[in-house]
Amino acid sequence: MITTVVGSYPVIFKEKLSFFEKILETFGLYDKYKYAIEIAVKDQISAGINIISDGQVRGDMIEIFTKNMFGFEDKRVVSKVEFMKPITLKDILYAKKIAKKLNPNVEIKGIITGPSTIASSVRVENFYTDNKDENLIYDIAAALNKELLAIERHVSYIQIDEPILSTGIMDLDVAKKAIDITIKGVKKPIAMHVCGDVTKVADDLFKFNVDILDHEFSSIRKNLEILNNIPKKVGFGCINTKSKKVESVEDIKNLIMEGLEILKNNEYLNKNLKDNILIDPDCGMRLLSRDIAFNKLKNMVLAAKEF
Ligand SMILES: [Zn+2]
Repeated sequence: MITTVVGSYPVIFKEKLSFFEKILETFGLYDKYKYAIEIAVKDQISAGINIISDGQVRGDMIEIFTKNMFGFEDKRVVSKVEFMKPITLKDILYAKKIAKKLNPNVEIKGIITGPSTIASSVRVENFYTDNKDENLIYDIAAALNKELLAIERHVSYIQIDEPILSTGIMDLDVAKKAIDITIKGVKKPIAMHVCGDVTKVADDLFKFNVDILDHEFSSIRKNLEILNNIPKKVGFGCINTKSKKVESVEDIKNLIMEGLEILKNNEYLNKNLKDNILIDPDCGMRLLSRDIAFNKLKNMVLAAKEF
């Protein structure tokens, strides 16, 4: 079965800079995050992950985007939101360059934070009425669409992170329309990652125009019930990213088996179940230590290989 990550990896900075790097640093030209990307890529590849990320090392999932879009000052909305320049492209290309040297078969995915999640996490001071203002959400979506069109040809698929959708705070019809705007003209497969308990919103999420729905099944076992009638490919989160305990291969294998058992009854998916499931952690791994994150990924890959 294909393995991937949700996105973020522990951010590791280089301890000892070379002479040349020190000079760059003096002029404010040293990019400390490049090393963090290298570590994230190398670790994912040595763990055996098939579709890696760039590690999303530059900041939290909101900040990365608000810092680089017009209309925001930090996380405050000060004017109409618009696309300025590709945001994640440079790191994707850098990660890809490192990855291809280590293993030419490894694929990379593009990851953006969804419009509803960004809108719900900022302070609206101007131009829009509040966080739920449809115009704000749609303008963010239009900006994100330009981002996707800029990165699409460099990645094997796209993932949109919309964790806010499990909370019930945001209007799911607006969220769905916003995703349509976000993915307009994008031809690569699209996954939507929604962590949290999705049992109450699953029927609505099933209607979103995405190819893969990615959820957490390790820390929230209740989510397993949505596998009975999910009409999309499943991103099967099977590593608890909130816990420091490294799951055993056996434990992970058992959880995947439990998921496959339920999927067998699913009338929407074809019977070649392994084509309908991607194995990944529950969520991003930024807050774990490098050692724990790596060992969790390694065991996850070993478990996936047993199928
Ligand atoms: Zn998540």
